[in-house]
Amino acid sequence: MRYCETCGLPETYKGIQIGEDGTCNFCKFYEKHQARLRDYDALEAFFASRAEAAKEEAKRRGSRFDCIVGLSGGKDSTYVIHQLRKKYGMRVLAFTLDNGFSTKFGTDNVRNALDKLDVEHIRVTPSEDILRKYYEKSLQLLKNFCGVCFHLMYYYAYILASQNGIPLIVNGRTRGQILQSAAAEKGIEPFEISQSLKEFEYQMFGRLVDKLDGHSCIDLLHGAQAESLSYFMYHKVSTEEMLEVLERDMGWKRPESSLPHADCWAHPIAEKLCLNKFGYPVRTGEMAVLVREEELTKDEAARILQGDRDAYAEVDPELQARFDARTRQRK
Ligand SMILES: [Zn+2]
Repeated sequence: MRYCETCGLPETYKGIQIGEDGTCNFCKFYEKHQARLRDYDALEAFFASRAEAAKEEAKRRGSRFDCIVGLSGGKDSTYVIHQLRKKYGMRVLAFTLDNGFSTKFGTDNVRNALDKLDVEHIRVTPSEDILRKYYEKSLQLLKNFCGVCFHLMYYYAYILASQNGIPLIVNGRTRGQILQSAAAEKGIEPFEISQSLKEFEYQMFGRLVDKLDGHSCIDLLHGAQAESLSYFMYHKVSTEEMLEVLERDMGWKRPESSLPHADCWAHPIAEKLCLNKFGYPVRTGEMAVLVREEELTKDEAARILQGDRDAYAEVDPELQARFDARTRQRK
């Protein structure tokens, strides 16, 4: 097996091309744009200008909110709402997608966050049959199911923004999640800012979104316009800093395990499916971004990923049965 000498990604990584110089296309893209991607003063100033523009636009439209944010109960989305309220003085509408996978950790945190942040909140519960149909199809065709929640989160964000005249959607995706498949500027912040659901979903589904568009199984809400920004693309904040703020201001409780996605009980299944399909853990691409950004060494990233492999090699049969019962279509 060959690995990128710079970031450590394996030659089996989705979309990778390792050149004769031993470096991958993702590293080359990052290196080319490094100055812009690391100029946090300019990035933050850009975010601030878009936040101000959203406030102006919301006022012009007579909207009660400047922006909308999906709140999962994890640290990232909670921190984003905290900052939008305290640092940017924005009127935030929070919403939570009830996908049937939230853990007690996640739901406790949502309750606590809403109490402390004092924001209006909407809980969206999609139709059970539609949800199951999506999960079953996604498992069959794509051999994963995370894309369903991703799609539904932004689908409802665009619906709610549209209904409430909200000009801006802010999300808590990490820089690793945004840059993990960045080999060109298309669809990648800060080079391109999405103004619609279809543009936003290009980030996750790539050209598949063109194929899905117009298909009866998916509605890309043409006509619903809102700007979409990923908070962490424009702000440099370490996990530790984030947790300190959340603990201090919100009485935040850290999850017991350091494994990712403590707000989703099905995450071990997602890892197992990823290992089966690609041979590497879910956060492989995110770790490579941290290596490129010099937050981790290649060895540290490899150790973390080995930890994921060990933790997720076997799925508890009870968890698998619970997952199957949750995602199968009802007869
Ligand atoms: Zn690389």
